[in-house]
Amino acid sequence: MELLPKDLLSQELLAIIGMIAIVGTIIFAVLLFIGLILAYIIFRNKKIVRFLSSTFGLVIIKILLFILDLLYLPSRKIISLLGGNDKMIDMVNVEMRNTLLKNRFSEVPYEDRIVVLPQCLRDLNCPVRFSSVGGAQCAGCGKCKIFEISERAKELGYKGVYIALGSGFVRRTIKEVRPKAIVGVACPSELNWGILEFSNKGLPCQGVLLLRDGCVETDVDLEELFCVMEMYQNGSERDREN
Ligand code: SF4
Repeated sequence: MELLPKDLLSQELLAIIGMIAIVGTIIFAVLLFIGLILAYIIFRNKKIVRFLSSTFGLVIIKILLFILDLLYLPSRKIISLLGGNDKMIDMVNVEMRNTLLKNRFSEVPYEDRIVVLPQCLRDLNCPVRFSSVGGAQCAGCGKCKIFEISERAKELGYKGVYIALGSGFVRRTIKEVRPKAIVGVACPSELNWGILEFSNKGLPCQGVLLLRDGCVETDVDLEELFCVMEMYQNGSERDREN
């Protein structure tokens, strides 16, 4: 049976759509593969990111961050199916975002910065009642590291230390306090998306991952956190690796 011009047109259209779908799938698979390989290399040796401080290196970081943000869910799913650490993408992204924002963060005076800590860092017997609306100040009982962090922030002249009781509380606090830079401590996924959200609003952030997460009595490396808090104009930064 002879095909009508209309049928030929629809067949051609279907062929074009099929071709676009195949090319799209190949691009998606290649990007995913490259993204996962590079993320794994950085995950195994985080120092690599810190060496990529040249303009060319920063462009590579931006491209990789773009790929990993775009393919965040499938990347996590694949890592999880392969039995890997499903926090890997978040941890690598935090490292890359820190590197990209480090110089801008270092230019902000201490008095314009705040520290945001997760409430799970508190001791289970913390004497202070915290409310998700008003928050609270550490009473300084010394049972958890928040006391030492608050003291160091005071010595440096930080604008404040805030104990986060959910993302809504953090947004409200930032709106009220109006800092110009933020040091955040949290678990990998909260830190990854938190840095992205606030840096998109023009606030350079630096994130420090919890050593142990799990929602109660978590822990943070004070040496690493103090190094980040002390960063100023690239001159007073202690080596985060030590
Ligand atoms: S040091 Fe502060 S935050 Fe930690 S348990 Fe004591 S009062 Fe609570």
